[in-house]
Amino acid sequence: MNLHEYQGKLLFAEYDLPVSKGKIIFKAEDAIDACNEIGGLKWVVKAQVHAGGRGKAGGVKLIDDPKEAVEFSKKWLGNRLVTYQTDKDGQVVNSILIEECTDISSELYLSAVIDRESQKVVFIGSSEGGVNIEDVAKNSPEKIIYQGIEHKDLSLSIKAENIAEVLKLNDDQTKQFIPMIDNLYRLFIEKDLSLLEINPLVINANGDLHCLDAKINIDSNALFRQPELLKMYDETQEDPQEAEAAKNDLSYVSLEGNIGCMVNGAGLAMGTMDTIKFFGGNPANFLDVGGTATQERVAKAFKIILRDPDVKVVLVNIFGGIVRCDLIAEGVLAAIKEVDVTIPVVVRLEGNNAELGAKILSKADIDIESINDLADAAKKAVELAE
Ligand code: GDP
Ligand code: MN
Repeated sequence: MNLHEYQGKLLFAEYDLPVSKGKIIFKAEDAIDACNEIGGLKWVVKAQVHAGGRGKAGGVKLIDDPKEAVEFSKKWLGNRLVTYQTDKDGQVVNSILIEECTDISSELYLSAVIDRESQKVVFIGSSEGGVNIEDVAKNSPEKIIYQGIEHKDLSLSIKAENIAEVLKLNDDQTKQFIPMIDNLYRLFIEKDLSLLEINPLVINANGDLHCLDAKINIDSNALFRQPELLKMYDETQEDPQEAEAAKNDLSYVSLEGNIGCMVNGAGLAMGTMDTIKFFGGNPANFLDVGGTATQERVAKAFKIILRDPDVKVVLVNIFGGIVRCDLIAEGVLAAIKEVDVTIPVVVRLEGNNAELGAKILSKADIDIESINDLADAAKKAVELAE
């Protein structure tokens, strides 16, 4: 799960990391009050979306008049910001972070990820901040340090000093940096993060370290023990079908094609997608209803698939191992009746109660292609999609 920058910075503040004084607003009319409350003469206004690259896309602006904060908010609130990290539709902006403007003397890069190979949290640092770290990695890899940190690391300060050296920090800054790494590591572990990135970490005009941006990903498998973080979930930043599926505990991934797939089991889903591809078609999604598929879940899955306007045909491929095919058949029929389906549906049921399932489908007063062989079913779906 991703956090917004402003949410990440709340966590930073909780862990004594230096962030700018700021306010989050959801309405343009609150912009002037926010600037006045923050005080000072210069501010930075930042569109909040789950994507980086906002600066280059016009989603971050330095201003010296609160009226500009109103203009900026009016321009972005309710609209979509497209950056090089988003898809072509971009991400909707529902809030603006207003901060006091920091005078920057240099921009650095700092992040932490889990390295599965060494089974450690690895900090990544570079003196080249504010830019695309992928470009630095490609063009000047010697400017990047990867430093693993262990649990209760006794040499933490030496390791922090190693990073500080690559960041070209002076003695004072290094003194600030050592507890910073300690705090970031605690934050990473205690909040079950999978990624933490500060780009840029800056040295301000006073020569002090300051976190100007905050990107945080939380390990979704740990959310059950992070109820406070779960409250920060922002569904508006997710693919609508994927969010709806996640809510219903269904595995769904949007793809580019036009054949909707409803399958039980990840392996069978892969096989189904391969078979569609083999016959020259393109799957519109990956949807695994799982082994506990009830009529209700199947109906829900059906609705989610049909919400994608690109879907021209739905291929249902169920192996009745745990799920009974007659239940699936009833679920499909219930869903088709519930949602107003105007596109063809190809159903292939195999396994437990497959014949009964096929019989239910063939008796239905709805136009369904019930095909027993996977290759034939996939071929038919590809044909119908064309
Ligand atoms: P991103 O483009 O989505 O990664 O957004 P950032 O939060 O990193 O902001 C983009 C850029 O805006 C930063 O790299 C800075 O150069 C600039 N910026 C952000 N906040 C401030 C600030 O307080 N003062 C100044 N001078 N520049 C800022
Ligand atoms: Mn950034």
